[in-house]
Amino acid sequence: MNALEIKKLSVAINDSNILKDFNLTVPKGEVHALMGPNGTGKSTFAKALSGHEDYEITSGEALLDGKNIVGMEPDEISRAGLFLAFQYPSEIPGVSIANFIRAALTARLKDNEDFEVTQYYKKLYEKMDLLKIDRKFTSRSVNEDFSGGEKKRCEILQLAMLQPKYAILDETDSGLDIDALKIVAEGVNNMRSAETGFLLITHYQRLLNYIVPDKVHVMWDGGIVRSGDRSLALELEEKGYDWIKEEMALTT
Ligand code: ADP
Ligand code: MG
Repeated sequence: MNALEIKKLSVAINDSNILKDFNLTVPKGEVHALMGPNGTGKSTFAKALSGHEDYEITSGEALLDGKNIVGMEPDEISRAGLFLAFQYPSEIPGVSIANFIRAALTARLKDNEDFEVTQYYKKLYEKMDLLKIDRKFTSRSVNEDFSGGEKKRCEILQLAMLQPKYAILDETDSGLDIDALKIVAEGVNNMRSAETGFLLITHYQRLLNYIVPDKVHVMWDGGIVRSGDRSLALELEEKGYDWIKEEMALTT
């Protein structure tokens, strides 16, 4: 199936179970939002999927177009076509953005392919123009002394260059300012196509004012408790998360 399919995924951190039988399907070409109160396991889900060593997947599958990525190394997962953007990306002093993206693309070449430097810069500048990024930006070290907005631009540029099959953007918890939100939104809207599936993780609905999702899922206590269309996000904005908590208390 052409989708990112998460089937009964359970994840533990230091022997405590955070995700329990988590199920989610994001078909290629769609944009889904994953929402929920703080501490319900949204970031745990993203990190576990990226192959982070602190997150132990105790059962279940994560199928990327039918291929299970559970147990693969982070770089293999990335090469398989899954892109993860975290809210607090690492700084890489001494490595320019241009070289960083180049290294990632080189790692994806097949044995009989050569890296085309001219083509690379042509594409890089095309994407930068599209995303309104200054050319000088590419010679700066990855995320070093970047403002919040610049980190987002760097992330979106990587996304545009790597053209992953699926992208998960964890934007939760603390506030991105409105400019950073717009950068993410413009980038995602530009890249929205039949070739890519997006999962936007967000605590607040305001990002979804700029990116209209095909589906919205609400997480509570390590699992998805509700799915719907965009109106679900608007309902959450209006009512807050308390009604979900109350309903869950009644049913458990
Ligand atoms: P969300 O992103 O939805 O706010 P998280 O996935 O960050 O939630 O956290 C889910 C739960 O897992 C919380 O109870 C949190 O305390 C716990 N948790 C997250 N990361 C760690 C960690 N590295 N070590 C121990 N507990 C963690
Ligand atoms: Mg989080």
